Amino acid sequence: MRPVFLCILFCALSQGCDQPSATQATATKPRVVATTTMIGDLVRQIGGEDVALTVIMPAGVDPHSFKPSTADMAEVARADLVFYNGLHLEGKMVELLEQKLGGRAFAITRDMPRGKLLAWAEGESGAYDPHVWFDPTLWVDAAKLIGAELAKKDPAKAPDYHNRTAAAVEALMLLDGEVRGKLAMIPAERRVLITSHDAFSYFGRAYDIDVRGLQGISTETQAGLTNITAAVDHIVAKKIPAIFVESSVPHSTIERVVADCKARGVEVTIGGELYSDAMGSPGERPGYAVDTYAGMMRYNVDLLVNGLR
Ligand SMILES: [Zn+2]
Repeated sequence: MRPVFLCILFCALSQGCDQPSATQATATKPRVVATTTMIGDLVRQIGGEDVALTVIMPAGVDPHSFKPSTADMAEVARADLVFYNGLHLEGKMVELLEQKLGGRAFAITRDMPRGKLLAWAEGESGAYDPHVWFDPTLWVDAAKLIGAELAKKDPAKAPDYHNRTAAAVEALMLLDGEVRGKLAMIPAERRVLITSHDAFSYFGRAYDIDVRGLQGISTETQAGLTNITAAVDHIVAKKIPAIFVESSVPHSTIERVVADCKARGVEVTIGGELYSDAMGSPGERPGYAVDTYAGMMRYNVDLLVNGLR
């Protein structure tokens, strides 16, 4: 046993000796911080090995209520570039991201045509729904912005960033077609998505699904009784077979709707847990890479098709 132990110790020590060169390589790479897991996924695809990436929000965490830790703040302070969603998704970080980072922070929604954005609330102008990633064709704009800003920061690698942006855009367009094809299996009268908070309006617009969230755009607002009653009425009237909880939002509101439907003699099931504002952890859903944007979309779409078809 002893020689093996010594070998492991020696290997560990010699790897330790190699570390300065690894650190040196990291030091020359742009330090990039992404706020959400979805933005982190895009930066990983486009930045590849050429950036040192830190994603500050963990899997399954709600960005509306996320408060950065001291370590997160230090990471942000050290970063060369910070990519964030904007449109007030990162509710507790708005001041930091929009006022304190002096040109190092970029909202991935910056270049999205305002005419393509949905209003935060009906009839409200000037404030937009931040859940843009659920329309892959809009997410293309986020990819392009990330690619362009990385190329500006690190011009020597610009052709690589450009090529990887083009590949990411192509993959998003293919995913859009795949999602559209799968959702076509749900009959028109059942194309209704009822879920905890209003994260899926862009998804609904892109794929012709009637979306109703019970808590509004931000999880910071609670579902009112009127919303719950309206959802129950809608489910009963339309005979909707399934409604959905979200991985980053407590399930209580949706469970209440199920119970109220039951009290009115209508069985509606919880069709499963959708990924809304955060991706999952590796291996969390067998058969789906829910720790990637594409995997999260595929998982959601299969759940919807199985629940509503
Ligand atoms: Zn949200």
